[in-house]
Amino acid sequence: MNFDIARKKMVETQIVARGVKDRRVIEAMLKVPRHLFVQEAMAAQAYGDNSLPIGEKQTISQPYTVALMSEMLQLTGSESVLEIGTGSGYQAAILASLARRVYTIERIPALAAKARRLFDALALTNISMKIDDGTVGWASEALFDAIIVTAGAPDIPSALLDQLVVGGCLVIPVGDKQDQVLYRVRKLEDGTVAREKSIPCRFVKLIGREGWSEDQ
Ligand code: SAM
Repeated sequence: MNFDIARKKMVETQIVARGVKDRRVIEAMLKVPRHLFVQEAMAAQAYGDNSLPIGEKQTISQPYTVALMSEMLQLTGSESVLEIGTGSGYQAAILASLARRVYTIERIPALAAKARRLFDALALTNISMKIDDGTVGWASEALFDAIIVTAGAPDIPSALLDQLVVGGCLVIPVGDKQDQVLYRVRKLEDGTVAREKSIPCRFVKLIGREGWSEDQ
């Protein structure tokens, strides 16, 4: 299988055709080798129009979802971005092309270890990662210009809003344990937030102090 051809087709038919316009997002999706971020036995399915299992009962998101969420962050290249839910590391690798610095948090050590090996192999030196509950953010590196949560949350974690600059945006799926809606939440000067609704989506659970409990 020619992965370069499959990746180009993925970008044309799943991402550009569905309305993603940000040139930098499109370039990043054309560049990052998604097949390295899935389980080896699934490499041939990496450019399909769907999410895939990555072990530990977790998933790598559908390519379109990754592109859309990246576009919603409105990055220009100078930003410090926080991601909650490293998973395979694919979304962080895309963000590494779009922002100055990426901080990413994963709660499952085995996934974090695998993602770290890939970041090293691909020389993605502007990604910092830690194993922790991301619902409380990464206080020592705050404030962030943008924050992305790639697991489904019951509500917007207040710690994440506290760690966002005024004018910055947080992209997050919010809903119940099965179905969510993607939101872009902008922090306003008066301390309130403006919520913009995007598409319905289905993510695995955000588990943590300001998320779901593990056995819920
Ligand atoms: N962004 C990932 C990628 O590109 O592969 C996909 C993320 S997967 C849909 C959701 C991830 O969020 C899982 O790996 C899960 O373990 C992680 N997660 C869930 N709750 C978390 C939390 N409180 N802190 C950090 N990671 C969390």
